[in-house]
Parts: sequence; C-alpha cells; structure tokens
Amino acid sequence: MSDTKSGFTIERRGLELRFRSVALASREWLTPDYVRVRLTGSDLAGFSSLGADDHMRLFFPAGPVDSVEELRMAPSREYTPLAWGEDWLDVEFAVHGDSGVAAPWAATAAIGSAIGVGGPRGSAVLTGTPGSWFLAGDETAIPAIRRFASVIPAGAPARILIETVDTDHEVEIAAPVEVEWVLRGSAPAGSALIAALEQLGAAQVVGDDPFVFIAAEQSVVRAGRALLERWSVEPAQAVVKGYWKRGEAEYHAPH
Ligand SMILES: Cc1cc2nc3c(=O)[nH]c(=O)nc-3n(C[C@H](O)[C@H](O)[C@H](O)COP(=O)(O)OP(=O)(O)OC[C@H]3O[C@@H](n4cnc5c(N)ncnc54)[C@H](O)[C@@H]3O)c2cc1C
Repeated sequence: MSDTKSGFTIERRGLELRFRSVALASREWLTPDYVRVRLTGSDLAGFSSLGADDHMRLFFPAGPVDSVEELRMAPSREYTPLAWGEDWLDVEFAVHGDSGVAAPWAATAAIGSAIGVGGPRGSAVLTGTPGSWFLAGDETAIPAIRRFASVIPAGAPARILIETVDTDHEVEIAAPVEVEWVLRGSAPAGSALIAALEQLGAAQVVGDDPFVFIAAEQSVVRAGRALLERWSVEPAQAVVKGYWKRGEAEYHAPH
C-alpha cells in the first residue's frame, strides 16, 4: 500500500429524508432496452443529490393512488438521480424484460402515472481531486458513470468500461475519454465485464492516486475487489458495489 497521501477522500454526508409525490412526464428510449424518463411535480423543489452514485428509492404503484400513504406502501426499488431542476427529475432505467416492478413501469406506465421518490438520504461525496479515474459498470451504473464522467478534469488519466449487449445498446456518454464498450452478446450479464477486469494487471493501473467506481450485477464485486488489491487501492478510496443480483428481486446492496 502506498504511503503517499491521497488527493481525495470519499465523505459521507446526510441529507434530510423526504418523500415526494411526482408523476411520469415523458419517456425517451435511448436503446431498445434503456429508457430515460422525466418525473415532474412541485414536490421536487429543493431536491438535492450531492454524490454521483447517490441512490433514491422510487415507489411504483400498480395504478392510480388516492393518498400519499398509499404511494408509500407501493413496492420500491433503488435508482440514481441523473439530473434535476426545481420541478423535474430525470432517471434512466435498464429495461431487463418483463420481470420485476421498476423496469416494466419505466417501459409501459402511462404518462401522468404517480410515482414516489424517497431520498436520497445520504451521499458519498468525492472531496478533493483524484489523480486518475477508473469507472466500470453495466447498464444500471450508466447514470452514476455519467455523473462521475462529467467531473473528470480534461487531461486526467481515465478509463470508462461499460458492459452492454451489443453495439445497438451503446448510449452516448459525455466524457473526456472514449467509453470502452464491453459487449456480452448472449453471455450472462456481468461475465464480460468481469473478464475485462480480470485482464487488468498491476501494470495497467489507470494512473496515480486513482478513484475507482465499479457497479454491476453482484458477481462483479469479487473481481472488483481483486482489482483494488492489484492496484493497491484502499477500499475506502473506491466504490465497488452490486447494483442487482441475478435471480433475486429487490436486491439490497450493502451500503
Ligand atoms: C445504488 C443503486 C443505484 C442504482 N441505480 C440504477 C439506475 O439508475 N438505473 C437502473 O436501471 N438500475 C439501477 N439500479 C439497479 C436497480 O435497482 C435494480 O436493477 C432493480 O432490481 C430493478 O428492479 P425491478 O423491479 O425492475 O426488478 P426486481 O423486481 O428487483 O427483479 C426481478 C428480476 O429481474 C432481475 N433483474 C433486476 N435488475 C436486472 C437487470 N438490470 N438486468 C437483468 N436482470 C435484472 C432480478 O435478478 C430478478 O430476477 C441501482 C441499484 C443500486 C443498488
């Protein structure tokens, strides 16, 4: 482990936990399986998300609701706030088939449908400036990767690896470096990204004092932690997280 002091830390900050009642305003398909939705409502005034990989809990009722209490009882899942303003909030969904609650809602809910937004209740905020950046994930991590990529200083050593199905499933990402798409084809989700991570030896470290973010199907965690070891990156200087788990609905990632 290097004794050199790092130029950044990941600081935990709490936010006031609020529940907001909003509505689906529009939907834009970016690929056949990836959709950006805009939620709107005056409840969004004051919405804040300090950390690029923050998550909020979205509540998906099956139909119209009569009260906020009813909305709070609806099934919920974790999503990343992508962008927001006084009365709007954009969220991107990986649409992974007909199973689950969130993905089918994002794909098919009628414009105007009610949805609840809880949180984010806390943030992990990058403070200071990493010497280099390594961002990797599957489709579910694209919103967080977009937010991290937007703060990478021009010229900083950086790599961004994103796993998806094929070239038809690639999306535009605004970043100072070109995204390296890792295509899984018909292989299980996560397998291609894991293989790509395993190929990165100690000599391929992205640069000095790297910030590492890796999030995808839960099985990526082992390969991600092994990469941190090879690169002598302290776990406290990195985020390595399962964002969902194969065969398990409503997976709760350890925070
Ligand atoms: C911190 C955090 C932030 C996240 N941010 C986002 C985000 O911004 N956008 C986003 O799309 N997702 C994001 N996710 C992942 C999302 O919460 C899960 O994919 C969630 O399980 C989807 O809910 P669902 O109701 O569609 O499916 P569930 O009811 O949870 O699961 C039903 C079935 O689908 C499978 N499944 C779940 N997700 C996927 C998937 N992506 N691909 C293939 N199979 C899947 C499950 O294994 C299960 O078998 C995030 C997760 C975390 C922990």
